[in-house]
Parts: sequence; structure tokens; C-alpha cells
Amino acid sequence: MYSGIYPGSFDPVTYGHIDIIKRAAAVMDHLIVAVLKNNGKTPLFSVDERVNMLKEVTKDLKNVEIMSFSGLLVNFAKEHGVKVIVRGLRAVTDFEYELLMSQTNRVMDPDIDTIFFTTDLEYAYLSSSIVREIASYGGDISKFVPECIQKQIKDKLSK
Ligand code: ADP
Repeated sequence: MYSGIYPGSFDPVTYGHIDIIKRAAAVMDHLIVAVLKNNGKTPLFSVDERVNMLKEVTKDLKNVEIMSFSGLLVNFAKEHGVKVIVRGLRAVTDFEYELLMSQTNRVMDPDIDTIFFTTDLEYAYLSSSIVREIASYGGDISKFVPECIQKQIKDKLSK
């Protein structure tokens, strides 16, 4: 079975992430979307909230499973018998960091490879941090995240 892990913060999930999830799930038997715990950033949403939001937006994708993990991604991948990491590339600014992560992961576990999906041009500018920032000023985020996520962002920011 050809499986992959798509790791990230997903704080919150955007149409950019959803595009990568759909495209990766279309070429794999099984895709685990893995929400990173304790990554040093102070998140807007808790890990459980992010997991639930991802479950909601992927409910129609039968071969996609949502999980969370802490510690090293290569260990999490090994525990689940997965050898392929999926990441998205938006622009050259992503490249340097992604190259470094992918090479580091291979040094730690040579059985693991990273494959990259280039972003759909429609979402090339889109990031969770931009969504959080625009939402914090009361801006319209309907082009960036699905309706159910918009509502949760608004609720969270109004607290
Ligand atoms: P991280 O903190 O690991 O970067 P993110 O949730 O910001 O977590 O991103 C997870 C992955 O999704 C990364 O590979 C990132 O490049 C990719 N990604 C984020 N936004 C987009 C987008 N708009 N289009 C394509 N890939 C994206």
C-alpha cells in the first residue's frame, strides 16, 4: 500500500492545504494528515481543534486520516509504516526550508523521502498566518478557508 504523511501546523487549515490534501490523496492509497503538537509557536487553535477542523473539511475523502503527533516526524512515520512525506511548495521562499527539512529527515532515516506538490496558482499567496492576520482585523476570509472554518475563526477571535 502506498501511503504518505502530510505534516503541518494547519493553524487553521486553508484552501491551499485542502488542495494539496486532495491532490496527494488522489495519487496515494492512504494519506495521514498529521498536526504537529508543541512546535514552539503559540497557536490560535489547540491541536484538538485543528484535528477536528481537518476532519470536517476532509470528511468526503475516504483515504484521508487525520492525526496529531509530537516529536520527530521520521519517528512518527516509522511507527505508522509510512515512507513518504508530503509537503507543499508555494514559492522560492518555501524552498530553502523545505530542502533543509527533507535532507535532514533523510539523514535521520534514509528510508524516508519527501515529495512536493507545487501549489495551485490560485493559492500561491495563501498561508495560515495571512488568514489569521486578516481575520484579526475583521477582514473577509471567505476566499481563503471553507465556511465552517470561517465561523470557527470568527468565534475564536471574538473570545
Ligand atoms: P508548517 O508550520 O509545517 O509550515 P503549515 O500548516 O503552514 O505548517 O503548512 C503545511 C504544509 O502545507 C507546508 O508544506 C506548506 O508549504 C504547505 N502549504 C501551506 N499553504 C499552502 C498553499 N497555499 N499552497 C500549497 N501548499 C501550502
